[in-house]
Amino acid sequence: MDEKFILALDQGTTSSRTLLVDSKGTIRGTSQMEFKQIYPKAGWVEHDPEEIWASQWTTIWKVMEDARIDFSQIAGIGITNQRETTIIWDKMSGTAIGNAIVWQDKRTAPICEQLKSKGLEDYVRENTGLVIDSYFSATKIRWMLDEVDGAQKKAEAGELLFGTVDTWLIWKLTGGKAHLTDYTNASRTMLFNISTLEWDPFLLEQLNIPHSMLPAVKPSSGLFGYFKDEGHRIPICGVAGDQQAALFGQACLEEGMVKNTYGTGCFMLMNTGDNKVISKNGLITTLACSTGENIQYALEGSVFVAGSAIQWLRDGLKILKNAADSEKMAAEAAGCEDLFVVPAFAGLGAPYWDMYARGAIFGITRDTTGAQLVKATLESMAYQTRDVLEAMAEDSGIKVKSLKVDGGAVVNNYLMQFQADILNVPVERPEVVETTAMGAAYLAGIHLDWWDYRIIMADRRIDREFTPVMDSDKRQTLYHKWQDAVRRTRGWAEK
Ligand code: ADP
Repeated sequence: MDEKFILALDQGTTSSRTLLVDSKGTIRGTSQMEFKQIYPKAGWVEHDPEEIWASQWTTIWKVMEDARIDFSQIAGIGITNQRETTIIWDKMSGTAIGNAIVWQDKRTAPICEQLKSKGLEDYVRENTGLVIDSYFSATKIRWMLDEVDGAQKKAEAGELLFGTVDTWLIWKLTGGKAHLTDYTNASRTMLFNISTLEWDPFLLEQLNIPHSMLPAVKPSSGLFGYFKDEGHRIPICGVAGDQQAALFGQACLEEGMVKNTYGTGCFMLMNTGDNKVISKNGLITTLACSTGENIQYALEGSVFVAGSAIQWLRDGLKILKNAADSEKMAAEAAGCEDLFVVPAFAGLGAPYWDMYARGAIFGITRDTTGAQLVKATLESMAYQTRDVLEAMAEDSGIKVKSLKVDGGAVVNNYLMQFQADILNVPVERPEVVETTAMGAAYLAGIHLDWWDYRIIMADRRIDREFTPVMDSDKRQTLYHKWQDAVRRTRGWAEK
């Protein structure tokens, strides 16, 4: 019999990708296509929903063509996606009423201020796990209903549908038959009640958003509908937002397990099991992937500037030729421990949430070299990660035993060793760093009975474990200095 595969669709912010995964969990093909970023005004970011779909579809075809297979060999489809990005379309024609408003888009900040002035912050935190912010979908929906001619009326007449990108792809793949999302994506809208697992009637009323626009919500592993092609019926059976999919793909399936992704920024998620931990330290509470009705929660913290500080050294200061050179340069600067870089280029994220903080370099002397600056910048990623991890430990009462890592910067051995040292926790780098797409593949494979939790946990292979070697006095001194440096950057832009 012909070999069977899962298609893992990874719809990201800058590109759409599809991975072909076999029944052993091995990646057998990859295809990727970038699409247009639309910046109509400062602070606005849009995508063309049809281009999102077309680029995704192209990668599906390409990956199958390269592997010389057709849909008869596809057992199931998993989807992971950029989160929060908002699309509204006409139920009858399937046409979007405008471009997708992307998660980074800040145009709805004034709507967020209105919600705050109504005193909704505590309610939102308690019930959605989130802080009121323009990232999340709710205010983007409000904006479209206000700004697109006749949209509110049509929405009230039940003629419009809302979806995050997963919902849009499911709609397209099923030919408009399924209007669905999963718990992880729903939990990023700021409209979903993460305790009752229903759209929150009070918030819908406050934002004047008709319930009829919203997709039905399901566990991440399960049947979402079928894609049909020439007599083949392929189940779409795994769906999760990108960070939650990465948590799953890293096999962080039990309470207390944590992953950190080092990309442009850092995203850390901790599985908190069935405990809905509401943060006192600037983290958000979100739904993790679930494979049945048993819900798992996660705490999430993000750092705005991580790998992008390395890009700054390369493209801005031009003291690096490429990102990979940073490892060698940091090693060259060994022994220099007095230089600290706080890359608060756009304020500070978790756990500080200070939009007025600005970047600074501390400890410069006449001898300071470019290599030392590179080393201190790499170290800032590790310090910021410790800040978030400490907040998680405090909120959850869980002492973390190891940190699982992924993302573009984890190839840097200097960074990984320093991370282990400054946390005093082992850092595990997996062999397969495609954790996001693999998360979607696993979710689909669980529904297909290809795998279960045990197999996924047992199959995860570690490329390298970095164990802490720094002595504790030194660790403490360095971290105190970092905290002091951060303190001195706070509130700068206000003055
Ligand atoms: P994203 O998905 O956010 O675009 P990636 O996971 O692709 O990011 O990671 C890219 C980031 O990693 C870039 O910001 C880059 O500067 C950083 N990076 C890549 N290689 C290295 C390296 N060897 N050392 C440190 N940082 C690196």
